[in-house]
Amino acid sequence: MAKRARKTTRKPTRKARKPAKRRAAAPRGRGLARLVWATAGALAVAVLALGAILFFGPDAREPRPSPPVATMQVPAEERPVATAPAPPTQTRPRPEPQVAAAPQPAPAWRQHAMPASVAPGQPMIAIVIDDMGLDRARSNRTVDLPAPLTLAYLAYASDLDTQTRDARAAGHELLVHVPMQPGPGADPGPNAVLLGLDPAELDRRMAWNLSRFDNFVGINNHMGSQATADRPAMAKVMTMLRERGLLFLDSRTSGATVAQAEAEKHGIPALRRDVFLDHDPSPIAVRSALLDVEEVARRQGHAIAIGHPKDATIDALAEWLPDVRARGFALVPVSAVAARLAAPSQ
Ligand SMILES: [Zn+2]
Repeated sequence: MAKRARKTTRKPTRKARKPAKRRAAAPRGRGLARLVWATAGALAVAVLALGAILFFGPDAREPRPSPPVATMQVPAEERPVATAPAPPTQTRPRPEPQVAAAPQPAPAWRQHAMPASVAPGQPMIAIVIDDMGLDRARSNRTVDLPAPLTLAYLAYASDLDTQTRDARAAGHELLVHVPMQPGPGADPGPNAVLLGLDPAELDRRMAWNLSRFDNFVGINNHMGSQATADRPAMAKVMTMLRERGLLFLDSRTSGATVAQAEAEKHGIPALRRDVFLDHDPSPIAVRSALLDVEEVARRQGHAIAIGHPKDATIDALAEWLPDVRARGFALVPVSAVAARLAAPSQ
């Protein structure tokens, strides 16, 4: 029905054709019939015209965004646009409930996505800063960097409501940085996703991690080289993310990770880190890593980098971020990468 309605209103020629057809039929009738037909035809044209005016009114939205000439507002695509909120329904002259048929609410990752401007085909770079929230001074300096960055806060940091609210107010996107089972000898912190937990305890820990602040688009793993290589554990995590409409970013702390593959299998937006900015936290190494990020973005169309609130990283980003657009890249939050990757299959 929706299709039919669109067809009718989209082709203005059809309006013009209809009365002609009816007029062609009229000569066959008698005088009175002709008059009736003419009146009916005029009425039909008026109703169709009114419908078209109302449907294509200033607020009417196309189900598919027509290709904008210069830039495309990613948020426009991310927000529940396809599932258009109210506008088209209110002015519909004929009852066609199908057109407005209960749109699925957008998943949380789209609802909480921060805006990004990207020209079609423009290479995108998302900078993610992990381990946010513990070192308040460096976390604050990170928040002060040009937006949008994607900031991954550890759920066991304190004062998270304030910290994450300030981060969003500054234009940054939020992730929960969920601690997961690392290799031997490392401590991921409290409420980590560890191997060998019974399912109820794993659920409880995930739920705790996801309950410490609001407005995040998804999670990425803190440490987790062993957990992310464990299919059953990842399947459990992804099931929870799917129920909550969240995306997953695989930090790729291990080459044996199956996390991204499990996320895809569960039908949730799955992203992967391309470059670590500060494995070697010397200023020269971080700057060089940023050049790698640009190279990946040119080649792949997007690049996701992960860094940490370290002085060298913050300083290098403070230099690099202001010119990134001038160099042809779109600086985006991770949700914009997820939105682009999701687009062809939508
Ligand atoms: Zn971490």
